[in-house]
Amino acid sequence: MKHTQKTIGIAIAMILASSAWSAPAQQNKPVQGTQISEAEAATLSFMREEEKMARDVYITLYEVWQTPIFANISSAEQRHMDQIKSFLDSYKLPDPALEEVGKFTNSDIQSLYDSLVERGRTSQIEAQRVGALIEEVDIDDLQNAITETNNPALERMYTNLMNGSYNHLRAFVRQIEYLGYMYEAQYLPQDEVDDILNPATVSSGLAINTANSQFVATNAQFKSSIKTQTGLYSNGTIFTQSDEITITATFRPDTAHLGQNADLLTVATFTPMGATQPLMFMRDETGDWQNWDGYFNTLTAVQVQQTLRNAQNLNVYQGTLPAGRFQITVGYRLQDATIVFDGQAIDFSVE
Ligand code: MN
Ligand code: MN
Repeated sequence: MKHTQKTIGIAIAMILASSAWSAPAQQNKPVQGTQISEAEAATLSFMREEEKMARDVYITLYEVWQTPIFANISSAEQRHMDQIKSFLDSYKLPDPALEEVGKFTNSDIQSLYDSLVERGRTSQIEAQRVGALIEEVDIDDLQNAITETNNPALERMYTNLMNGSYNHLRAFVRQIEYLGYMYEAQYLPQDEVDDILNPATVSSGLAINTANSQFVATNAQFKSSIKTQTGLYSNGTIFTQSDEITITATFRPDTAHLGQNADLLTVATFTPMGATQPLMFMRDETGDWQNWDGYFNTLTAVQVQQTLRNAQNLNVYQGTLPAGRFQITVGYRLQDATIVFDGQAIDFSVE
């Protein structure tokens, strides 16, 4: 029993402090035999074609413009399609996706595809804007899908897709700025797009009931920032050992948790340069980083019994760091042992 708990704890720690949410589909497998509602089934079917629409527009615009970004992102969309397909299969739902590139069962998606490709053919900059628009629409639809469902496996899969769309939107906007243009939001509110584009990472939370290791739905949102003397940096940045790095996190707890008492948590993995095994750490109340064995019951809090407010701030780290890869996750633990954590770890390297 204890062994099992530890194994689960370690698995969760790896999830907590890894970029698992942009990683392989097998971590988002549907639960066999679980029923889903008609609305959830309709959304799943729609999202399958929406991801195909993204993939097919990028395949087509790659043929037109030969810009590598379209090839890279279309393969990510293929993985998103595959993830949704595994849910359709498991619920024995028909797959609406047609074989042919640019052909769709849903007529709204078909006309959206046609108009976006037409627009994307007019110029390189319009092609990039089409990419950014697709991601904005995708983010909005995924947000709605997450709100609609109470199925934790679906919620997890959609959250993973949404974090992918955040990255894709940032990538298209970088291209647009590289071409010398400013990006203006096309579908979502500008401030929401600004939040996504800010090098501070905005991501959706994930929640797990540590008593039974089941994921539960949450609308918590996390935002982190990695700063040095020279500015703000995004995930994936490689710093030097002399860089003074300041990491902070802000989160908006799940609305259902506002006013509750919670322990604030910070967990990190450090993979020293040249090593393959990450070391796990947890931060304690004195600010020290202690080794963590992966048991939930040994996980110390940075701050205990804090009343959850709408915006919670956590100072995660300030100083220089040794060479290696760092993945840091913040979150909170409720009295019922539910842990809510950042769906996308703070992730950077030092050389
Ligand atoms: Mn996608
Ligand atoms: Mn995308």
